[in-house]
Amino acid sequence: MISTDCSKQIKSTIMKHNFSAGPSILPKEVFQQAGQAAVDYNGTELSLMEMSHRGPEFVAILDKAVQLVRDLLSLPDYYHPLFLTGGASTQFFMTAMNLLDESDTAHYVDTGSWSSKAIKEAKLFGNVNVLASSKEDNFSYIPKGYQVPEEGAYLHLTSNNTIFGTQIQEFPDSPLPIVCDMSSDIFSRPVDIHQFGLIYAGAQKNMGPAGTTLVIVNEELLGKVQRTIPTMLDYRTHIKKNSSFNTPPVFPIYISMLVMDWLHQNGGISWIYEINERKAQKLYDEIDRNGLLKGVTAPEDRSRMNATFNVTDSALEDAFSKVCSEAGIVGIKGHRSVGGFRASIYNAMPESSVDVLIEVMQHFEQNYG
Ligand SMILES: *Cc1c(COP(=O)(O)O)cnc(C)c1O
Repeated sequence: MISTDCSKQIKSTIMKHNFSAGPSILPKEVFQQAGQAAVDYNGTELSLMEMSHRGPEFVAILDKAVQLVRDLLSLPDYYHPLFLTGGASTQFFMTAMNLLDESDTAHYVDTGSWSSKAIKEAKLFGNVNVLASSKEDNFSYIPKGYQVPEEGAYLHLTSNNTIFGTQIQEFPDSPLPIVCDMSSDIFSRPVDIHQFGLIYAGAQKNMGPAGTTLVIVNEELLGKVQRTIPTMLDYRTHIKKNSSFNTPPVFPIYISMLVMDWLHQNGGISWIYEINERKAQKLYDEIDRNGLLKGVTAPEDRSRMNATFNVTDSALEDAFSKVCSEAGIVGIKGHRSVGGFRASIYNAMPESSVDVLIEVMQHFEQNYG
């Protein structure tokens, strides 16, 4: 049993360790800066929320956000970062609406709930071929070794499966442009942008609060489908109007910009990648070592962002939840569709919080093993 004294001590140094899958932890200093901007933006005595999205203050924020995406991912000019609304879920159909003709085929790899939802929506616009799936094994691994056809509109992948805790470690060679849902691992590791035709990510996992979705699109993919696309759902509208065709989500874009700036100032993707690898490695090492815990996904496909695991004796689940909450650990319950536990260790999760979780796991074993 973790002693009361010990949990008190942890509590007094850091109040809460937020392992939630999303909306999720962001850097503390970003919350502080955003809190200030909510009341008085930059000494203007106005909240950023009451300012025109066409005024100089917000235009500068948006420009900086776009530039940070470009810098962090080394984007060539013909890739356009867009800040849209409607969540990643809107991208499930918007990608197909813009890129998949009625008579054409798009290829999908089905690696979990989010992929499955993307597949369902794409079918409204054209032919969908599910190239590979791990559904029969409850999405516990990433399918590999499939051949991507030469013919088709695109290959759709989900880079990190937030719910099941798997992650594509190596993207397949694809003659087709890859459309990738990176909602839960954007900016967590280096990627070669040239492999992708379009990337989308709901902000609320690894880059900001809920309310905006980052889309990065190669302009060469656009304008090729026959159908008429409603203005708001046409990527070209948002490229032309720099994400301000209509009122953009001002505050979520501002906070996302602060998070990207935090990342950039500290050393960018290579800096965070090293930390992310270390955090995930030590957490999985403990899950593997601990006699009362067990990982649920194929070790080679383990997510560096969402570590899923079970308490081997389900009668001890409540006890584990209790020791976690005593140590200030929150948001560690698995997704309602899967059960068990999930520790989301996104970019902003301090390594010291991962250390606290590991310590709690060890205490749990000592006291209940
Ligand atoms: C959370 C999540 C989504 C859904 O995002 P919304 O912004 O809520 O629509 C889609 N894909 C992945 C991988 C996610 O983690």
